[in-house]
Amino acid sequence: MNFEDLTATALVQKIRQKDISAAEAVAGSLAQIRKHDGQIKAFINVCENAEEKAKRIDKRLAAGEDVGPLAGVPIALKDNMCVQGVPTTCGSKILEKWMTPYDANVTELLEQAGAVIVGKTNMDEFAMGSSTENSGLMVTRNPWNTEYAPGGSSGGSAAAVVAGMVPLALGSDTGGSIRQPAAFCGITGAKPTYGRVSRYGLVAFGSSLDQIGPLSRDVRDNALLLQVISGHDSRDSTSANLDVPDYLASLEGSIEGLKIGIPKEYFVDGMSPDVAAATDAAIETLRSLGAEIRQISMPHTQYAVAVYYIIATAEASSNLARYDGVHYGFRSQNAEDMIGVYTKSRREAFGDEVKRRIMLGTFALSAETYEAYYVKAAKVRKLMREDFDNAFEQVDCILSPTSPSPAFKIGELVDDPLQMYLSDIMTLSLNLAGLPGISVPCGFSAEGLPLGLQLMGKPWDEATILRAAYAFQQTTDFLRRPRLNSE
Ligand code: GLN
Repeated sequence: MNFEDLTATALVQKIRQKDISAAEAVAGSLAQIRKHDGQIKAFINVCENAEEKAKRIDKRLAAGEDVGPLAGVPIALKDNMCVQGVPTTCGSKILEKWMTPYDANVTELLEQAGAVIVGKTNMDEFAMGSSTENSGLMVTRNPWNTEYAPGGSSGGSAAAVVAGMVPLALGSDTGGSIRQPAAFCGITGAKPTYGRVSRYGLVAFGSSLDQIGPLSRDVRDNALLLQVISGHDSRDSTSANLDVPDYLASLEGSIEGLKIGIPKEYFVDGMSPDVAAATDAAIETLRSLGAEIRQISMPHTQYAVAVYYIIATAEASSNLARYDGVHYGFRSQNAEDMIGVYTKSRREAFGDEVKRRIMLGTFALSAETYEAYYVKAAKVRKLMREDFDNAFEQVDCILSPTSPSPAFKIGELVDDPLQMYLSDIMTLSLNLAGLPGISVPCGFSAEGLPLGLQLMGKPWDEATILRAAYAFQQTTDFLRRPRLNSE
């Protein structure tokens, strides 16, 4: 069996049984990157020391050490997570040459678990976008059809996984950036409960919304990776000091009697007929597995886009104030005085979308508009969370499509930011409420592009949505890989 077809679970087993070495696994990943990434452009940087690290793991394995649950597995990180000694660009010219001096919490945990970081993946600049086209460095292509976007903002990570370059990747999700690219690329992606995974060493976009989460081909690998990255970290004040359940164990067992809510507000006008049909079929599959399907209502869903784009931009405008041409990365060569260093560095190195968001956020936070926009959005956010709380009194999890449409073409929405913002309509509410969600493949469009099903869970209850997603995946056949042109 070829490297590119192996899941992380299968790979770990082979490495433990010494069928293949960690060094061979990492060499397989790097070969696949070399072969296809000229076309796909998932990676901003490849880690030169990956093979060296894999050899060290092989030595430890040979010495009989327990190297950890991800022993020798190649993994890619979205380029907004810090890995010491490697640049962290956030897809931005302003950080293009910033050499990272420390490891993120997830980086430390992955290394402790024996994973080998092979590279950093492309993303919309500072994770602002839904297609990876807002990257200041390059455009990533969807491996299913290179004329299409891979989704975003974790588009590089999703494309790398489905192209078989790595079995696992991390993304970050502020309003859907793990789930939506997972759906567009036909893989599995989960956003954990806010506070489940430490944000230490994740470059901030919207601090009250951001969460790191796993991207993988199947649900079992997703649970395996989530297990490794979850847990308390005192360096992130919002990290929860709670026990982490055994996610792999929670996959087993039936979903007989599981109550799944279908919120009528998520079935919006303009949804693609392919998405509607695949979602209906998925509901029937889950029903046939014994789930009890209930119609529910979440009346404040209609405000999600407006509320998100006030809260997220307000937080971003504050978080991005630190890029001043002095502390990190890029500094304009055209400045004549101190103010010029600030303004020209920012003007020259931030892209249009980032500037747009800084302006929107600064406006929402300014004295005259603060009450009318920011405070009001914060109040509606609370009502949206109450919608979830009320729903979870009747059901165990909530189902919707991940995105109202399959992947769109590169260039199709990039000049229409509002239309791009609307493509997140299914995913934003979950971040505003801080809850866990997962996207699993649930079919293909008429053009042969993958479609995703979203399951949303109660606070801290990743286990239930993983179990439902696993049961769904066990009875369906949507785990496929595209044929790459360069193959
Ligand atoms: N697409 C959304 C945005 O542009 C969400 C991005 C994300 O989750 N990072 O803000």
